[in-house]
Formats: sequence, C-alpha cells, structure tokens
Amino acid sequence: MKKYFLVFVIVALSSSAEADRLVRLYDVSRGFAMKLIEDGYDVANVDIRGEYVDIMLPEKDVDQAALLSHNYEVLPKEWGELLPENLNDGGYYYSPEENWAFWCGLSEDYSDLVDTPATIGQSYEDRDIYMIRMTSSTSGYKPPIYFSSLIHAREPGGNSVLIDFAMWLTSNYDGGDTRAAWILDNTEVYFVPIANPDGYAFNMPNGGNQRKNMNWSAGGDGVDLNRNWGYMWGYDDYGSSPYPYDQTYRGTSAFSEPETQVQRDFIISIEPIGAMNYHTYGGYLLYPWGYEDILAPDNEMFVGWSEIMTAGNGYEYGTAWQILYNVNGEQNDWSYCGEDVARMYPMTPEVDDNGFWGSQNDTLEIVRICNECRPMNILFCFAALNYVGINGEGEVEIEPVLSLDTVYPNPVVSSAVFRITSPTVSVVDVVVYDTSGRIVHSFIASDLAAGTGSVIWDVPDEIPAGVYTARISDGAGNCDSRRFTVMK
Ligand SMILES: [Zn+2]
Repeated sequence: MKKYFLVFVIVALSSSAEADRLVRLYDVSRGFAMKLIEDGYDVANVDIRGEYVDIMLPEKDVDQAALLSHNYEVLPKEWGELLPENLNDGGYYYSPEENWAFWCGLSEDYSDLVDTPATIGQSYEDRDIYMIRMTSSTSGYKPPIYFSSLIHAREPGGNSVLIDFAMWLTSNYDGGDTRAAWILDNTEVYFVPIANPDGYAFNMPNGGNQRKNMNWSAGGDGVDLNRNWGYMWGYDDYGSSPYPYDQTYRGTSAFSEPETQVQRDFIISIEPIGAMNYHTYGGYLLYPWGYEDILAPDNEMFVGWSEIMTAGNGYEYGTAWQILYNVNGEQNDWSYCGEDVARMYPMTPEVDDNGFWGSQNDTLEIVRICNECRPMNILFCFAALNYVGINGEGEVEIEPVLSLDTVYPNPVVSSAVFRITSPTVSVVDVVVYDTSGRIVHSFIASDLAAGTGSVIWDVPDEIPAGVYTARISDGAGNCDSRRFTVMK
C-alpha cells in the first residue's frame, strides 16, 4: 500500500510542527481522484466538473504535486491550517470554548425557546458531546429536525452555519421573519454543534489538520467518524479505508467509536424526520446513497427538495458518488435506512468555504457562507415538515413511499395492528427488534391491497415486556420503522 503514506509518516515523526498545504491539481479525471484516495492521499475536495482535485501535502513536499499533474497550484496557507495568530481560538471560527459560551448564552437570552445545552455522551477522550434543543412553547407533537457539524474536526465552516441559523431562529421568532416562528412553533430543532470534540480540541493548538477522532489505538492516527456508521459499513474500500493511517479509515467495526455511538443513540431516541449534517468544503448538497452507484427509493424527492434548497446558492446536488466519490459507513446512509432508526430524510451540505480554515481572518467570508446556507436550512425545515403533513409556505409535493404508518394500540398488550402503506408492492417483510438490535420475530405481510393495509401481529408468549422496533422492507430498497412498547 501507500507509497505516499510512508513519506507522510516519516515527515510526521521527524517534525510534529511540519505544516501541511492544500494543493489543487488541474486537468485530472474523476478516476484519477479515486486512484489518489486509494493510494492514501488526503483528498480534500473533488470538483464535480472534474476540473480539479485538492489534496493535502506536507509543505516541504508540495513540489511532488508536479508528479501528479503538470498543472497545479499551491493554495493559500490559511486554507489548510490555523495561522499562528489564530491558534487556540480559531480566528473568526468558533473554538470549543466559544461554542460553549455561545450556546449557553443563547439559552439564557432566549430561555423560552432554547434549552440549556445537555450532554448526550462522551468522546474517546471523555469530552462531553452536547446538544441544544430549540422550540417554542406551543404544545402538541412537534417532529424533530436534526442539525450537526464538525464530525470532521477540520471543517469549522459548518459549525459557523449552525450558529448563524440558531441566531436567526431565535432573533426572528418574535416579530421578525415569520418563517422562524413557523419553524419553532411546528418542530423541535436539535443542534449537535461539535460531533467530534476531541479532534476539534486537538486542532486548536496544533494547526487544524485533524479530520478524524483521536482514537489512535488501532495503530493509526484516528478513525474517520463519517465512515464508522452501521449501514453498509466496510461495503468496499472505495472512499472508506481499512488502513489506520488513511484519512478515510473506517475503524475496526461499525460503530466502534464512542462518538458515532453517542450520535446514533441520540438520533434513535429523538426520531428526527430530517437531518442536515454539515461538512465543508466544495459547495454541494448530498443525499443517499453513498455506498453504491444506485439511486435511493426517494431519489426524486431528494432531487425535488435539493432544487428548491439550492436555488439561491447554486450548490451542486446529488448523491456522494455522483458529486464526489463513493463512501460507505457514512452518516446519511445510516440515518436514511439504518437499523432501529425511524424513517428520516438526511442531507449533507458541503459548505463552499475557502478550504478548511480559509475564512479564519475574514469575517465577511464567514457571513457569506452563512448567508448561502441559511435559506437552505429554512427550506429544509419547510420541506421536511411538509412531508409529514405540516404545511407552511413553499409547499413541496412529495410522492408517498413505503411506510409503517402506525402501530396500535400502543402500548401493545396481546396483539398489535401494523398499518402499512406500500405504493408499489403488495408484500413486505416485517422484522421486530428489541432495543439491543436482536431480532425477536419476523414475518411476511402480504395482500396489501391497493397499497395500503393492516396486519395483525399477535405478540409471541416468549417476548417479554419492553420497547421494540418494527421495521418493514419491500426488497426494493424501501424501508421504514416504528417504535412501540409491549406491556404484559
Ligand atoms: Zn467532512
């Protein structure tokens, strides 16, 4: 493996202060980009039109770029690292301490809208991973919508966008933009602003090139948390590496890392209807699937949402394999169809920042990326809420897909009725899981006349009281799940 990786290790060992530099290679093909990833290069961005590929090289080795393309450009230093004057505070990006102060301050200033930040678990190095819940005091069920950033620790532009959106929602709730009130009156917005707190904390004094978490126990330099999720984890080695020093190293098993476990468990517990998991940089909006060159069953819906969401900022949209390259073990794919997670619609914006840290000294550039992404966040909330029947302005027409509409009664005592909508097939598989993911019962529901039907499930005697998840699938890639309780 990895002719290049050997060079990198030597450099890393010889001088921990050795800086890396982003280099843009022109006149290279998409296939060549995949080859670079396979060879262990740190590929930071692939331009959709195939015009260029950005890679990270140790500064003293940037001349090696000439071996890869006759036409290359060394990008500004601040695109790839925190400059000395911004070490520890991130410049105009929000450091870990500034994040905490911001979210705590917001919950104090808008205590009627914003809950106090709450810990949802700990990282590999025992840092708290926290979330902030935001909603108005209106009552009734409000479907949650999930926002996260910094699962890749060197992508702070996404964090700036979350902070901007949180400020916009709160400051416009009362008497400002009516869309803010509409969102907070109809949904619970959840923010997980630092999904990889160890990597982000490490970056502050160390220049900013840590992408992965800080679990070096597998012999490498961390695990790529966005290759560690449990749907199609390790499906192949495209964009997801088995080698611990690669930037896309996926870990020793699905959900091997505490950070992905914490997000997984939290997402399962709140059952969001949609998610915006922020990354940088490139100016893209991505949706499932990532693991294979196939379209998701809801592809037309994702396209429809994306057209509306990117109308203002011109971001390119598509699946990861259409826009960048194949990935597996990625958060979108699991969020969309992972075990135990209720049906939701996840998207991954790649903010059009200037490299990873390129806006650190330019507050106008931070404002620009926030302005580009705020309408996308608003429209995403509208699209997701429209989808579940809560209609506001800018209605989005969505075709129905396979869904497990209800389980009733709930709690279930001796038998349950599963109400299933299946627009395309009349037979679906039903599998019931317990909370640790074990299958406790499975059967086939057939004769779903006219695409909709009810199936009665008699609770087997051996199944104890507890919380269960029923998951239906139609063999064509469509699935849905719903949680219920059995009482005895
Ligand atoms: Zn990323």
